[in-house]
Amino acid sequence: YEYIFVPIFDNDKNVVLVAGSTRDITSRKQFESQKDDFMGIVSHELKTPVTSIKAFTQVLQNRFARAGDEKATVLLGKMDAQINKLTALIGDLLDVTKIEGGKLQFNEDFFSFDELVTNVVEEIQRTTNKHNIEIQGKTQKTVHGDKDRIEQVIINFLTNAIKYSPHSDTIIVKSSYANEQVTLSVQDFGVGIPPERLQQVFERFYRVSGNETIPGIGLGLYISAEIIRRQKGSIGVESEPGKGSTFYFSLPA
Ligand code: ADP
Repeated sequence: YEYIFVPIFDNDKNVVLVAGSTRDITSRKQFESQKDDFMGIVSHELKTPVTSIKAFTQVLQNRFARAGDEKATVLLGKMDAQINKLTALIGDLLDVTKIEGGKLQFNEDFFSFDELVTNVVEEIQRTTNKHNIEIQGKTQKTVHGDKDRIEQVIINFLTNAIKYSPHSDTIIVKSSYANEQVTLSVQDFGVGIPPERLQQVFERFYRVSGNETIPGIGLGLYISAEIIRRQKGSIGVESEPGKGSTFYFSLPA
C-alpha cells in the first residue's frame, strides 16, 4: 500500500485535520517486476548472438589485415567498436536485472588500487583522440573487493567524463588515501549538472534533460552506486553547470 497524508490548516496555521488516503499498489509492483523479468530475458537472449558476431568480426578483421586490405580492416574495426558498445549496453541491462532481483554477486580480490587505476586509464585513453586523461596522486594501498566491478565504476566515470565534455580536452583522475579509505575522483570540464539534479543522476534510467544528443540510457551511475554501496564505500558528485563535474568514490583499504 501507498499512504498519502495532507495536513489541513485553519487561518492561524494550526493543523485542524489530517486527510489521508491509501492506495493498493500490488498491481503496479507486479507490472514492474514483470518488466524487470522481460528486460532480463531479452538482454540474456541478445548476449549470445552478439558474442558470436564479435568473434566472427575479429576473424574477418585478422584475415583482411593479413591480406593487406586496409579499408576493410578499418571498417571491421569500426564494427568491432560498435559491437563493444552493444555488449556494454546488454551488460548494463543484465546488471540492473540482477540488482532488482537481489542477485548481483561480488568476488573477493586483493589488488593494488594504483595499478587498477593506471590500467583502466590507459585502456580508456586508447579510445579517445580528443581527451587527455591526467593521473594525479597515489594511494600505495591494497583494496579488498571485486576488482572487475570497481573497474566498471572507474570506466563509467571516465566514459561519462569524455561524453559530457565534448568541448574540453582535459580529464583529471586523482587518487588519495586517508582514514583507512582510498578515494578516486574523476574531474571533467564539460557541461556540468544543475544543483537540483545532482542526487537524481544516481537513479535508475535518469538522464539530465538537455543532454539528449549524447548517447546513453541512464544506467551507468545507478549500477556504479550499487557496486560502491555494496562494498561499504561511498559515492558522490560535485558539479557546476557549464564548468564541469567531479565524480568520486571511496572504499575501505
Ligand atoms: P548515461 O550516461 O548512459 O545517460 P549515467 O547513469 O552514466 O547514464 O549518467 C546519468 C546522467 O547523469 C547522464 O545522462 C547525464 O545527464 C549525467 N551525467 C553523468 N556523468 C556526467 C558528467 N561527467 N557530466 C555531466 N553530466 C553527467
